[in-house]
Amino acid sequence: MSEYVLPPPPQASVSVLGRPERYAVRRIYCVGQNYAEHSREMGSDPQKVPPFFFAKPADAVFEPALQGAMPFPGMTDNLHHEVEWVVALGQPLYQATPAACAAAVWGHTVGLDLTRRDLQAAAKAGGKPWDMSKGFDHSAVLAPLQPLEGPLPTAGAIALSVNGEARQQGDLSDLIWPVPELLARLSQYVALQPGDLVFTGTPAGVGPLRPGDVVLASIDGLPPLRLELARV
Ligand code: MN
Repeated sequence: MSEYVLPPPPQASVSVLGRPERYAVRRIYCVGQNYAEHSREMGSDPQKVPPFFFAKPADAVFEPALQGAMPFPGMTDNLHHEVEWVVALGQPLYQATPAACAAAVWGHTVGLDLTRRDLQAAAKAGGKPWDMSKGFDHSAVLAPLQPLEGPLPTAGAIALSVNGEARQQGDLSDLIWPVPELLARLSQYVALQPGDLVFTGTPAGVGPLRPGDVVLASIDGLPPLRLELARV
């Protein structure tokens, strides 16, 4: 048995609905601008934007149901909410077909791709990486995973409110790149494995969060995600 010079870090993981076992997280991938209205609100032309991907560290996972109020992130004056449908893989995928990708989804849930919009805007303007605007601690907020029973949904309302005020609204049928095609494209770039989570993009209406805000995110057929941001 090999030994480590320091104790190995804990395995990142997510709760699973109705099961005591947890889902071990290997990698977290996200797609940019996968709903036309959001693409337009970010100043892009959805016709001309192929899917592009970025990543968050596995241990950026934050589960409000277990961890309580989230510490408000530093280094931003414009923390944004992005409600997203998140799929969890159960099989390896490399240069896979859309049908194989659809069959590899093990579970799904509601997530928030928290974004330091000010740092992202500066990164875009300077041609710099997005990591510090997207991949910071607690930036991947998740409800418990629901094991997928039956085929992947192709429609369903997705919405987010802040302090009871509606902010984001869309439908999974509005995805520019549906999940099978999205995963097929991602699997061209990297070998995907069980334990990989994929955030599938956010509908229009992204906006700022402040300390003390309560966020409610929902997708038809899945338990809602409630996030409270701690008061500083
Ligand atoms: Mn996003």
